[in-house]
Amino acid sequence: MSGEEVYRTAFGVVPVWVTASPHLTHADRSVYVALCQFADRNTDSPWPNLAYPFHRTIEARAHVSENTRKASLRRLRAMGAVKVVSQQNPMTGGWKANHYFVPLDPPDVCPICKDNSCRPSGTGFPTGWGST
Ligand SMILES: [Zn+2]
Repeated sequence: MSGEEVYRTAFGVVPVWVTASPHLTHADRSVYVALCQFADRNTDSPWPNLAYPFHRTIEARAHVSENTRKASLRRLRAMGAVKVVSQQNPMTGGWKANHYFVPLDPPDVCPICKDNSCRPSGTGFPTGWGST
């Protein structure tokens, strides 16, 4: 698939529990959306919900600097939205591109506020969000 084809047709599944979180900055959301565009959402895949873009690819897609990408990934990891798996090449000892596990479901308890006060209760979301 050419770059032009990817630009016109690619998309990502982006869970609302992450994008609606008050714990994140706008840059964090951009980094998260970029990761979701690479995540394999095919449940039949041997690697469901895994993405492995290069750092510079995430930065380009999200329009953020290296420092912002790193800070955003720290916050996304802290809230359980992303798990990073670093891989070392056994032949060279060098580090390969990170693998990012981007789960669709939120953790049972928000690891940041610990009491889920960040989550909407009852009809917390305006109508038209998510369910029909
Ligand atoms: Zn929270």
